[in-house]
Amino acid sequence: MDFCHLVTRQQQKENTNFRVGSSLVGDRPIVIMAGPCAVENREDLIGLALQLRQSGAHILRGGAFKPRTSPYSFCGLGVEGLKILAAAGQASGMPVVTEVMDARDLEMVAAYADILQVGSRNMQNFTLLQEVGKVNKPVLLKRGLSATIEEWLMAAEYILAAGNSRVILCERGIRTFETFTRNTLDISAIPSIKELSHLPIIADPSHASGRWELVNPLAKAAIAAGADGLLIEVHPHPEEALSDGPQSLTPVNFTRLMAELKPLASAIGRTLEQPS
Ligand code: PEP
Ligand code: MN
Repeated sequence: MDFCHLVTRQQQKENTNFRVGSSLVGDRPIVIMAGPCAVENREDLIGLALQLRQSGAHILRGGAFKPRTSPYSFCGLGVEGLKILAAAGQASGMPVVTEVMDARDLEMVAAYADILQVGSRNMQNFTLLQEVGKVNKPVLLKRGLSATIEEWLMAAEYILAAGNSRVILCERGIRTFETFTRNTLDISAIPSIKELSHLPIIADPSHASGRWELVNPLAKAAIAAGADGLLIEVHPHPEEALSDGPQSLTPVNFTRLMAELKPLASAIGRTLEQPS
């Protein structure tokens, strides 16, 4: 990677920041995206979204197209899931982020999503990167399962080169020899990205750990290391979740995390409050 790439600090000294709804991404306020792994049904999601908003979340997440390891696992509700997600976003006053798995679905997903998520498994789907680069919506680009920081930034470069400069990077853990945790949260990626790039970076301690008990401490570590936000999986009944229950916080534990993050944010000169 050299200094002529659009993602680099050399190309742009100031941090990239932009609005999503009323929330600022990449600025002093820390942005909290929360919600279930997958959209499951309307009642649960609307109820959860209202609770999350109440607890201080800014952006609602939920997958409608799920990249599952097994084709026999629950793969999401598709367009019905997008509709439910958009309705829950409206009901709670939060913008929504959801994954687009395939360039063929992009127009449909973009019709409902405020932020387009490119998942880990698609980080080097260059066709998809070029296509989301042409859309007038922010993109959440998750780090590939085994991608180096440079490969990840080059993936972001595809999106910027196609004309879309509103990219949020998401460190979601990488494959290591460790099996106790689902992945290994690469904390060092956060300050490394800050040094190399002007793009905002958030952390996803849910997929990074695969264990809900680890989400709270890892979330704090990520914020302390300079992350601009968090992506947290929350489910009203994790034990009944159709995907990623073991890593999902209950609403009560999410509320506790938000309260505990507050003093940490202010200690590093940031805030959890977004301008309303
Ligand atoms: C997700 O956010 O639901 C997801 C599938 O994450 P990742 O692409 O990081 O595995
Ligand atoms: Mn998940």
